[in-house]
Amino acid sequence: MWICYNCKEENEETFDACWNCGFLREGKAPENLETFKKVKTEIINEELKKAEEIPKVHVPIQRPTSVTVIFWILIVIAIIRLLILILILLSVNFDTGRIGSFVFSIILATLIELVVAFGLRAGENWARMLYLWLKPISIIYGFINPKIGNIRSLFASFFYLIILFVLTRKNVKKYFKQ
Ligand SMILES: [Zn+2]
Repeated sequence: MWICYNCKEENEETFDACWNCGFLREGKAPENLETFKKVKTEIINEELKKAEEIPKVHVPIQRPTSVTVIFWILIVIAIIRLLILILILLSVNFDTGRIGSFVFSIILATLIELVVAFGLRAGENWARMLYLWLKPISIIYGFINPKIGNIRSLFASFFYLIILFVLTRKNVKKYFKQ
């Protein structure tokens, strides 16, 4: 090991000139100092370029447990609701067509909720936005509609607030916006 006179950099025994500044081991400036500087700059630029070309590894954010829990709650509720609605449809006298169409509209809404639940599970931000914006509308509809009733709508509101809280957490948002 020897120390360069010019830049005080450590050099390997096998080097005749400083790897850092190009000065000779004896402390003299080399005749081709300009060439050395030029080549050194080129090599550094080359290395920088290579470093930029290395593809950045995209590490996916794991699905937060809270989102998985919401998914399963939504799925279970939707399945129970669909079963009840199908039972109602089977027992309803189709002369009273208005009840039938009401039940069908709830079945449609439930199917949309199923799609949204799977979207949430897959980390799709459209599903998150759809849930956050459409659910209040359906809750307001529930308060207005006497067939749904205020108690159920109050429960739905409470449930919505919990999901609103979860879906607006920082880590959850990150998961949906990756
Ligand atoms: Zn040096």
